[in-house]
Amino acid sequence: MQPIVSKLPGKGTTIFTTMSALASQYKAINLGQGFPDFPMDQALTNAVNAAMQQGYNQYAPMAGWLPLRETLAEKIAFLYQQTVHPDTEITITPGGTYAIFTALTALLQPGDEVIVLEPAYDSYVPAILANNAVPVLVPLHPHDFSIPWEAIRAALTTRTRAIIINSPHNPSGTTWSETDMRLLEELVLAHQLYLVSDEVYEHLVFDNALHQSVLRFPALLKRSFVCFSFGKTFHCTGWKIGYCVAPEELMTEFRKIHQYNCFSVHTPSQVGITEFLQNRSSYLQLGAFLQEKRDYFFHLMKSTRFTLLPSKGSYFCCAGYERISELADHDFARLLTCEHGVATIPVSAFYQHGKPSPYIRFCFAKKNETLEAAVEKLSLV
Ligand code: GLN
Repeated sequence: MQPIVSKLPGKGTTIFTTMSALASQYKAINLGQGFPDFPMDQALTNAVNAAMQQGYNQYAPMAGWLPLRETLAEKIAFLYQQTVHPDTEITITPGGTYAIFTALTALLQPGDEVIVLEPAYDSYVPAILANNAVPVLVPLHPHDFSIPWEAIRAALTTRTRAIIINSPHNPSGTTWSETDMRLLEELVLAHQLYLVSDEVYEHLVFDNALHQSVLRFPALLKRSFVCFSFGKTFHCTGWKIGYCVAPEELMTEFRKIHQYNCFSVHTPSQVGITEFLQNRSSYLQLGAFLQEKRDYFFHLMKSTRFTLLPSKGSYFCCAGYERISELADHDFARLLTCEHGVATIPVSAFYQHGKPSPYIRFCFAKKNETLEAAVEKLSLV
């Protein structure tokens, strides 16, 4: 039998799976893969349980449970002063990663180029490659991960179809400013690009900053797929549920792909989330809650020799380890897991070229006692 030709030659298992497996093999504390270890809100599990008991167990509509889409449209109007039509411009998806993959599949023709700013979440490039399109990798500025506008402009060609952005940013915890968004809007409009915006950490923005969602920029939104995650928002990453917002013309194509792939998403979760979202504190308090985790982790880490980079949002921060080791980040992260009992993610995994990075990534979305136990180990390194 002829072997199939791989769509993703050279790709193995994701770093998140690898490091979580290593953490469990070595019984290490897992500050690697981005998932909370604190309990989610019982009001939400109760609402989903109730939906199942009440018989909401058959297919939801392909685009999603309408009351959920209506509730999201209200939330978007409230948070971002943007009118989005629940019928035509919102689709519920099995997670944010799926929304990004579907957006790219709807958008890309073979040979199209897509600008990806590195370090980048590891699903973007495979999603581009699986669609026979071409990732054009542009590094963020190396020390503060700020936006390299000159390099982005230099990377544009007649084949550039789209750009992917992510704020708050995984892995660095940086966020886009309003000025960045204005510059992006100019660029997208001037070159008639499309935008895929990964906003799964939308509510996890610290220090009273505003999340600069694409949804605040009407001209930009006309050319955008904006992707969100309930898993990240409500501390239930295992539920794999999120949504995409896009103008009707784009959403029509998105739904053509979605209807032949997943078709529709877990009904009781959608019904339960709809009820839970009626209380705005379900999302308005998240930034402050996670900020406390960040601050506590940064405070604890003063007893170690790691150099933390600032984090303005997300579950994550990056850390240098130049005072501890000269190992490449992959090897250092392995050593930390296997010999010191704390799993992290090497930041080189967010680059395609594979060169070592001077940083590892910590996830601080953990119970205080988990952070304390981890830092106790890290202070001995
Ligand atoms: N988004 C999460 C992270 O960056 C993990 C997602 C995954 O495991 N694929 O850690």
